[in-house]
Amino acid sequence: MIYRIIFFSFLCISAPIFGQKEEAQAHIAALTNIEMFGRGYVNNGHAIAANYLANEFSKYNLTPIFENNFFQEFNIDVNTFPTEIDVIVGGEKLIAGKDYLLDPQSGSASGTYSLFKFDIDSISNFLAKQLDLPLKTAIVVDVSTIKSIDTLSMLNELKYELVKLFPVIWLNNEKFTWSVSSSELANPIIQMRPLNLENQHKIYLNFKNELLKDLTTKNVIGKIPGRKEKFIVFSAHYDHLGMMGSAVFPGANDNASGTSMLLSLANYYAKKKPKYNMLFIGFGAEEVGIKGSYTFVNNPPIEMDKIKMVINLDIVGTGSDGIAIVNAVEQEQNVKKLISINSSKKLFNKVKIRGQAPNSDHYWFSQKGVPAIFIYTLGGVKAYHDIYDIHETLPLDKYNDLFTLLIKLVKKL
Ligand SMILES: [Zn+2]
Repeated sequence: MIYRIIFFSFLCISAPIFGQKEEAQAHIAALTNIEMFGRGYVNNGHAIAANYLANEFSKYNLTPIFENNFFQEFNIDVNTFPTEIDVIVGGEKLIAGKDYLLDPQSGSASGTYSLFKFDIDSISNFLAKQLDLPLKTAIVVDVSTIKSIDTLSMLNELKYELVKLFPVIWLNNEKFTWSVSSSELANPIIQMRPLNLENQHKIYLNFKNELLKDLTTKNVIGKIPGRKEKFIVFSAHYDHLGMMGSAVFPGANDNASGTSMLLSLANYYAKKKPKYNMLFIGFGAEEVGIKGSYTFVNNPPIEMDKIKMVINLDIVGTGSDGIAIVNAVEQEQNVKKLISINSSKKLFNKVKIRGQAPNSDHYWFSQKGVPAIFIYTLGGVKAYHDIYDIHETLPLDKYNDLFTLLIKLVKKL
């Protein structure tokens, strides 16, 4: 109940009228608020975020594309870690997201495990020996000093064999970058630092994964009627990674920033009579494998050949080093228009041209022959898919410039 009360209180934040950046700060603060649980699948964070978008759409008087609501529902499988995670070494409880990450596919574990250090130089010995290891053993694979890509990929494959029987502790000093999985393993894989296990022989693990099957999530779709038949589509995924035990992944840059830009644009065009029909889509389940846009293009609520262009926004909270455009090579004509607006208005110091990549929601549109680009910003904070992607450090210093660029681009389409 308390969540509902708090949620209601930030629903009441009315969209400020003093400029897009200030509007963005309010939206991003709301979308990254703990009460949205990282917009993932623990405590229904994704549904709370979808309701936030729908509520904003109705404030701006957007037209629902379906009978009487803004939602296009679809089902996903998703592996979650809804309860507290205990990883205790030498009497010290390690901190989720800071000291370790559970591989998103991880299964459950409970109890004290003896650590068995995997020796890369005697793999065949090990493979013979592993069946004799006691039940409560966790296999430690230290890849922190391995340089060879071939060895690393061999060990990666082996990891998925080992985890069928034992928890695997994967030691390296790589950045912690989390994601979401639709499946579960028999045991967990835990990424941590070699330092955490120095001189240790045991580890205590206690946590439970929960694979949610056929969970209903949704796209949020609103329309502003235009004077012409064709559509311009703005899209941004509103979902993020959610929570891993008590660790929250707020996803300020990815993609509260793009969601906020979507809302800024909807709010702006709602007060105009635009040339084209404008469609605003907050996609769900992008982080689960670009599922929301896949659902949309395969069950399109509008005729796909009426879409003049899709502009997808994902990670747009920085920009001090410019912007990048994915699928720009194929969309050369439209991108040329964007580049010329950018130079004449002196907005960004660089427009990086990229080819196609299946890395966000523009992709499925392109696959169906619909002109689509994906814009993200460059420079500024480096936090990505980790607990540090927070709104307090997101610069938004080029947010108004991106807004201007998009408005001017639509005029030229
Ligand atoms: Zn994203």
